[in-house]
Amino acid sequence: MRRPIIAGNWKMYKTVADTCAFFDTLIPEIQNVEHCDVVVAPPFTVLAVAVEETEGTRVAISAQDVHWKNEGAFTGEIAVKMLVDVGCTYTIIGHSERRQFFCETDETVEMKARAAVQAGLQAIVCVGETLNERDEGKAAEVVRRHITNGIGHLTSSDLSRIIVAYEPVWAIGTGRTATPEVAAEMHAEIRKILAEIHGEAAAQEMRILYGGSVRPDNISAIMKKEDIDGALVGGASLDPTTFASIIKYV
Ligand code: PEP
Repeated sequence: MRRPIIAGNWKMYKTVADTCAFFDTLIPEIQNVEHCDVVVAPPFTVLAVAVEETEGTRVAISAQDVHWKNEGAFTGEIAVKMLVDVGCTYTIIGHSERRQFFCETDETVEMKARAAVQAGLQAIVCVGETLNERDEGKAAEVVRRHITNGIGHLTSSDLSRIIVAYEPVWAIGTGRTATPEVAAEMHAEIRKILAEIHGEAAAQEMRILYGGSVRPDNISAIMKKEDIDGALVGGASLDPTTFASIIKYV
């Protein structure tokens, strides 16, 4: 059985004070939740405070990106060991906003994923097609390329720390959620691609999250689909009460 994960991606939102206030509300609201793992990905500047605020709770803290080198002259970048040092246990890699606006490629995704899992982090690797690509009937082809080039060359022990997030770009921050059926179809396709590359057993064990305008009113239907093992939530993870009701989807 794959354990569900609900992960929140704060993007470029929240100060130190906002972060403390968020967890002061979230933690008591989810204290009886046992059915899923909970992950929150704040910006770099509040990672340490988020780790402190969630110590001894079931919430794990994730970065939103990481560099593949251990250290060096890379102004503005953050190394994996720095994330480990502040107590992060996850990182997001290859988010579509990184791909669209910051030159992220499948090649950098692969280097980052390798560095993250080798340092013991769980890596949430994002894949997904744009609206044009879907309209042109190329969604499956694009996702296959993201998977093959991004995580297709990792070893099976590396893979045990990879979580895939299927995030159709047309559904991110647009309020236009993929229907549970459309999402489930692509999740099944992703598991098929993973099985072709890494074998059926590894593919069955891997968790595949859906991301794209997940809200309290659509999470239950999404989570009922067989190949959907959780959600990566952007906008709706910023409010602790809204995020708590997504976490309590059952
Ligand atoms: C995201 O940022 O990964 C995301 C899915 O955003 P939203 O939920 O706002 O669509």
